[in-house]
Amino acid sequence: MESTLKVIGSSEAGCGTCKPTGCGSCGTTAHKTETPAVLSRREFGHAVLAASAGALLTGCSSEKTPETASAPTPAVPAPPALSPDLAVVQSSKGPIMTTLDEFYKMGPGPSSSHTMGPMRITYDFFQRVSKLPEDQLQRATALKVHLFGSLSATGKGHGTDRASLAGLLGKAPATCPPQFLDGLAANPDQAYKVTIGPKTLELTLKDIIFDATKGDFHHPNTMTAKLLAGNETLYELEYYSVGGGFIEWKGYKAPDKGHPKYPFEHARELKKYLIDDKIPLPQLLLTNEMAISGKSEKDIWELLDQVAEVMVRGVDTGLTVESVLPGPIKLHSKAAAMQRNLKTTNKGDAGRVITQVASYGFAMGEENARGHIIVTAPTAGSAGIIPAIVKSLRDLKTPTQKIRDGFLAAAAIGYLCKHNATLSGAEGGCQAEVGVGSSMGAAMIAQALSASPKVVSNAAESALESHLGMTCDPVAGYVQVPCIERCAYGAVKAWTAYCIASEEIPEERRVDLDTTVAAMALTAKEMNSKYKETSEGGLAVSVVLC
Ligand code: SF4
Repeated sequence: MESTLKVIGSSEAGCGTCKPTGCGSCGTTAHKTETPAVLSRREFGHAVLAASAGALLTGCSSEKTPETASAPTPAVPAPPALSPDLAVVQSSKGPIMTTLDEFYKMGPGPSSSHTMGPMRITYDFFQRVSKLPEDQLQRATALKVHLFGSLSATGKGHGTDRASLAGLLGKAPATCPPQFLDGLAANPDQAYKVTIGPKTLELTLKDIIFDATKGDFHHPNTMTAKLLAGNETLYELEYYSVGGGFIEWKGYKAPDKGHPKYPFEHARELKKYLIDDKIPLPQLLLTNEMAISGKSEKDIWELLDQVAEVMVRGVDTGLTVESVLPGPIKLHSKAAAMQRNLKTTNKGDAGRVITQVASYGFAMGEENARGHIIVTAPTAGSAGIIPAIVKSLRDLKTPTQKIRDGFLAAAAIGYLCKHNATLSGAEGGCQAEVGVGSSMGAAMIAQALSASPKVVSNAAESALESHLGMTCDPVAGYVQVPCIERCAYGAVKAWTAYCIASEEIPEERRVDLDTTVAAMALTAKEMNSKYKETSEGGLAVSVVLC
């Protein structure tokens, strides 16, 4: 589940050139509507829908969509008032400026906003206090974290406390071993030592405090972290988990970015560079990434290699662990059994290959549900798809550089969908998460296997097209049913899309990628709010838990 809060604000002034598929040229600013102080996660998703679907997905000013204006639905909370200070609501349209480390974020599942974000926050705080003067640290007696708003209201179920404690203990979100996270949950009273400069402190889960759920917060997902000397606060910072694993803090300024050498907002502009100017896609994306982020080529390859390792490690772990997943559904994991049974299967070549790929998707989806380390690709709920693709490409002995190129192509598809539609189940249903993940996976396969730019684009289009309209209806609000199985399907469909795109005559494909992204945006806009992460429709109300 990811809530792309960046796009919650409605545009204050329409551009006057709106089209049903969205002109994409309007800026967005923070929503001015007054709001209840705090919303639960589900209420928040609901509010997001009501507030922003029309404005966001058309890119134009509109306080209410026709559906939300007339729907006989129960009380829809007013949208949360996000502070206009937040960088996340200040971004505007223009060329795509997303960078790889913003997109492929590593950290614990199952929720990018309620688990990964808090761990990134407390790890950031750990690093900050580690740099304080020694005389100050000598006096330190405790570290405390206070969770507010939605983090407090729903944090227990999402493992917000253990993720926060792990970061505070100096565990990096990308590399924290799953056993360590499991240990925190299994031994809630255990004290853990953390050394900060000259001082060693003891921390327990009780140092993560579930504080007020209602109040006048800067953001619905607010938390504070403090270094204390008895009752005296030595250092304190207020943080916000603003969605998708992104974090901000009081006084945050978005880092300066460079201008891309090959600016693009849509696939059609990419096509001009790739096909007319004959610039290879990986080269174009690498050049842009270096220009925007200021990173070296070496840094970029190292990041992608780390992303690949985290993904494959997650799949490998998921293929060996069998367990009942946390939460009220009592869902038994499947990946390990699927893998084991492959050895004796009589499904034939097709059945064997599909089972293999699906088991990889299950493996990482189940790891996400266990709260282990995942990579958003594009979100936590859809985090099983790209790892399944990477693992299956490695099965084919695809060279490392080709897999890096595949990551770049996949990111390009994710960027296009983020820029012109949404990556959030709360805004667009599951088509925006699993649909985009599958589309990214198809592009990744095509690029890694050296397909032409047209085939890469067609494969991505085909996979996304095959997910249009998919709703978000997680049972009991947990990222398990239908999410995990959908990751498996997303991976298999990615391969299917690539197989279709690589066999057809590329120029004869009737639907282009921009059209399908626009269709996703339109479908998201018109989708009933019950199917946008609110757990008020579909499977979420059809499945009865005993
Ligand atoms: S149903 Fe899809 S969009 Fe909704 S939480 Fe699950 S994976 Fe995310």
